[in-house]
Amino acid sequence: MTWSLAELVAALRTSTRIVALTGAGMSAASGLQTRKQLWQRFTRDDAVSMARFRAEPATLWAVIRAFWGDRPHPANAGHQALARLPNLAAIVTQNVDELHQAAAAAGRSTPVIELHGSLSRTRCLDCGRSGEATAQALAAAGLPLPPRCACGGVLRPEVVLFGERVPAAAMASARAHAAAADLLLVIGCAMDVSPARELPLVAARAGARIVELKRRPSRLAAAVLVHHVAGAAEDILPAATTALATSEPGCDARP
Ligand SMILES: [Zn+2]
Repeated sequence: MTWSLAELVAALRTSTRIVALTGAGMSAASGLQTRKQLWQRFTRDDAVSMARFRAEPATLWAVIRAFWGDRPHPANAGHQALARLPNLAAIVTQNVDELHQAAAAAGRSTPVIELHGSLSRTRCLDCGRSGEATAQALAAAGLPLPPRCACGGVLRPEVVLFGERVPAAAMASARAHAAAADLLLVIGCAMDVSPARELPLVAARAGARIVELKRRPSRLAAAVLVHHVAGAAEDILPAATTALATSEPGCDARP
């Protein structure tokens, strides 16, 4: 079911516990490569499975270097508008770029639940020590790959690889937020990866409306009633927050 921007704005205005579930499309405008783009250059299973990483760690790091690129990638207008959205209870993200945290609005502490970890953290496969430098800095510095710990062990990024499970605490928190939501915004998600794709079902069963913000609808509509707003997050979200603030002066006009 297609929704106009006005219908989205009306839903945002009448919802009191909004949860956002975000994926790669959220960050595309920040200059990050999407998985689709990466898998045109790398063999997906080779690149990101834990078994392959242990055998050939440089390959995953080459994918990370390609993903991250060599230019800055600040939070985009979509991240910033989402951070300012009134009644936003939580952000659940499949992204590993920490751009939601970078866009956090002053004075607000909306929880960001990272289902797939973060590239800003590393851990040594041998001694277990957390990395002192960020993964992206290591990947961008032109150093030989893979980056190594002071002990000589290979550093792994603290992201969930194929063959690994989403951390149980993150998934439990995501489920709880989805079950408590009255509106779930699914933004830029391909919805082809479990367990994230369960979350709209959890929210819908608990009575939430599900709205998908994406250029083209995902397969989510086959499983649950979805209102689709066609477009890119960096266009729709700023337009929606502006319309909210304009139609209800004082509500979102606080500094
Ligand atoms: Zn070590």
